[in-house]
Amino acid sequence: MRCPVCDGQLKDVLIRDLGGITADITWQIHAGQCEEHGWFQTEVVSRPPREIFAVTRPFGAARRIVVDGREHFSFSTSWSDLPQQERREKVDPLDASYWQTKPLSK
Ligand SMILES: [Zn+2]
Repeated sequence: MRCPVCDGQLKDVLIRDLGGITADITWQIHAGQCEEHGWFQTEVVSRPPREIFAVTRPFGAARRIVVDGREHFSFSTSWSDLPQQERREKVDPLDASYWQTKPLSK
């Protein structure tokens, strides 16, 4: 997972496995820290995440982050941009390319 603000690799990445009801469902929370921008996390439930959230601490509450004077709570991923039809196909939910967030407009 990368920082949605600066695109830096997140450190101290933590993964909490929430154990799906059935074995073939991946259900995890991923959290990671950017030294400059703090903690981010997202939830994976069989599919790549549609949004990455800024949080106060790993597995903590959502927080507001201000970048260039604009407030953000969450950052949508490239997965959320795919057409619905493509999102129905079976993919690796942990494929990093789906986790890419849009560069923030300056
Ligand atoms: Zn950052």
